[in-house]
Amino acid sequence: MKMVKLEEEFPILNKIERGEEIVWLNPQKTSFAESMQECELTMQDVEEAEERLKRFAPFIEACFPETKNKNGLIESELIDIPYMKDTINQKYGSNLKGRLLLKQDSHLAIAGSVKARGGIYEVLKHTEDLALEQGLLTLEEDYSCLADPKFREFFSQYTIQVGSTGNLGMSIGIMGAAVGYHVIVHMSADAKQWKKDLLRSHGVTVKEYDSDYSEAVREGRRLSQLDPKSYFVDDENSKTLFLGYAVAAKRLVGQLEEKGIRIDESHPLFVYIPCGVGGAPGGITFGLKQVFQDHVHCFFVEPTQSPCMLVGMVTGLNNKISVQDMGLSGMTHADGLAVGRPSGFVGSVMKRTLSGEFTIQDGKLYDYMRDFLKSEQIFLEPSACAAFQGAVQMGKSSEIEKYLAENHLTENHLTENHLAENNLVENQPKGNHLAENHLASLMQDSVHIVWATGGSLVPEEIREEYKNTYLEPEKA
Ligand SMILES: *Cc1c(COP(=O)(O)O)cnc(C)c1O
Repeated sequence: MKMVKLEEEFPILNKIERGEEIVWLNPQKTSFAESMQECELTMQDVEEAEERLKRFAPFIEACFPETKNKNGLIESELIDIPYMKDTINQKYGSNLKGRLLLKQDSHLAIAGSVKARGGIYEVLKHTEDLALEQGLLTLEEDYSCLADPKFREFFSQYTIQVGSTGNLGMSIGIMGAAVGYHVIVHMSADAKQWKKDLLRSHGVTVKEYDSDYSEAVREGRRLSQLDPKSYFVDDENSKTLFLGYAVAAKRLVGQLEEKGIRIDESHPLFVYIPCGVGGAPGGITFGLKQVFQDHVHCFFVEPTQSPCMLVGMVTGLNNKISVQDMGLSGMTHADGLAVGRPSGFVGSVMKRTLSGEFTIQDGKLYDYMRDFLKSEQIFLEPSACAAFQGAVQMGKSSEIEKYLAENHLTENHLTENHLAENNLVENQPKGNHLAENHLASLMQDSVHIVWATGGSLVPEEIREEYKNTYLEPEKA
């Protein structure tokens, strides 16, 4: 009975239930200023997280020599991907305008995925809390002392537990083991064998479940509560994880500046991020909104069979509804996104902030993966490739056209600046056809970031397997 009513109220649910790819615009999105009135987190929280990561940088550098070139900061490159833009427009019938970039969290040090932001940050925050509490450390000290055996011995009496579809477990497990904790990762059925093997090689305890992610989290939470020396990283509710992800935004400002890219009223930024439980894309979006405010437009991408954040946001029920409630399987090749129920906390923060969502069928994850390898010679894991769906739809979907019109992003503009910048004044043909010839829509100056969330640790033989995976399109 209840479901019938929901579908009447939100007709897009019919398409979602049939497993169709959709484009959804968030009707509740509002201005940045207004959206922040109801939000308990602020820029100051993000800055505190950033400071904490700086304090830990000497420790990270000491434990993980691969971070030496960034002085112990875990940060990824931002690169242009013009050939992929051509592929998107030629092969997928899109008409994406502007500059297309890739944020390579797929290649973040230590964990090889976006989880190297949130997961590692939460382990470090817990470590600092414990050490300060015990008077073992002051905020002014050089944290590289934490690599000392006496600290490792201290932390070895404590346990950290986490539920994971794979990547979160890897970030918590590797960093937790480096600090000296006993780490227990509760892995859902979707988790890949190589991720479990890699964790065990770091001395992490991996518990395997036949069930989905929510069940692995529930069991991990329960077992952790039984042990007073155990700390649970709660992906479904953690504000700490969220803030760790949010730190990405301020660093991105500098990277854009280095490339001479401006983001302002006439240079809008669009960002496409794959979404599982919502912590990573939610935290990144929160951070981006703080720095670019109304000039950034953030979209999530989820698999058609596990669009948990979408279902939660469309209905407003957040974590009170699951994809299984909609008759979807929750099964997807995108292991990082195989989540049936979203974080309620993230849903509430995104309610007035997120621009919209796209969904993608599994088969396309592999198509985009092959396209990207061919055009830019970079490997990304299937979950990460979901983000390309955003770039394709941006130049294609009629819903998006509506979004651009509503946000005054389709208007032509021909400002003095624009003319000067593009050298149009000098090159102006006699007879002044300038207005017709060079009228540029604002989208010509738009910037698009595909947020690549994982892939660099995927072993060669698994990459080969992925390259040869072809799936039939799902029938509605
Ligand atoms: C975890 C993950 C995501 C999504 O993060 P959530 O916090 O679960 O929403 C996206 N891509 C990859 C590769 C991931 O591992």
